[in-house]
Amino acid sequence: MSQIIKNISQIRERMNQACLRANRNPDEVKLLLATKTVSSDNIKIALEAGETLIGENRAQDLKNKYIDLQSLPHEKHFIGHLQTNKIKEVLRYDVSCIQSVDRLDLAEKLQNRLEFEKKEMNIFIQVNTSNEASKFGVSPDKAIELTKQVAEFPRIHIKGLMTIGLFSAEEQKVRVCFKMLKDIKQQIALLNLPNVEMKELSMGMSHDLEFAIEEGSTMIRVGTAIFGKRIYADSYYWNENR
Ligand SMILES: *Cc1c(COP(=O)(O)O)cnc(C)c1O
Repeated sequence: MSQIIKNISQIRERMNQACLRANRNPDEVKLLLATKTVSSDNIKIALEAGETLIGENRAQDLKNKYIDLQSLPHEKHFIGHLQTNKIKEVLRYDVSCIQSVDRLDLAEKLQNRLEFEKKEMNIFIQVNTSNEASKFGVSPDKAIELTKQVAEFPRIHIKGLMTIGLFSAEEQKVRVCFKMLKDIKQQIALLNLPNVEMKELSMGMSHDLEFAIEEGSTMIRVGTAIFGKRIYADSYYWNENR
C-alpha cells in the first residue's frame, strides 16, 4: 500500500482519538490536505483513496495542477498568503473558499473582481493568534472589526476563521492560540452579522492537530504528516511574491 494512504489512515486515527478525548463526533472535523510542493500524482493517490478536500498556497500551483486533477472530484481551498495581484488568477481555478483573508484591501479587491465576474466566494478570516511577525493574519484585537467590514461585501461570504498556531513545544502556548480563535468565533457569532456564518474553525496542522481538535477545530490542514517533509521553508509558500 502506498505510504500516503497509510499516512492518511494514521491521521484519521489521530483525529478519531482526539475527538474521543474531547467528546466530539468525528464527523464535526474535516481533513484538508495541504498540498503545497506535492505533485499531482501524489495528490491523486489521496483523492483516489477517498479524500475530497485540498488546499493550495500559491496561484501558480493551482494553475499547474488544475488539468491533472480535473478528472477527480474534489474541493479546493486557497490557504496561502494572497497578494491582490493574484486574485484574478486564483478565481480561475474553481477555488471554493479563500481561507486567508486578513486585510480590508484584499477583501475589497476580491469583491470588485467577483462583481466583475458575477461570482461569489466563501472565505475565512485569517487571524494571527501567535502574534509572530513572520505569520500573516489580522491581529486578534482587530479581527472582529475586519469581519464587520468584510461582511459588507455582498459577494463575499464569511464562513469561519483560520489560524496557524504557534510553533512551540509548549503545549499550553499552542492551545492558547486555538482557544483564542474559538473565543473570537463565539464573539462574532453573538453579533449575528448578516452575511456572516461562524461555522468553521480551520486550525491544527501535522504537529498540533490533537490540541486543535480538543479546542474545537472543525477543519485541520495536514501536509507533512501525509506527504512527507517539504524541501523549502514554509515562509517560501506563505509569500506569494516569491
Ligand atoms: C503547509 C500548511 C499547512 C500544513 O502544514 P503541515 O505542518 O505540513 O501539516 C497548514 N496550513 C497552512 C496555511 C499551510 O501553509
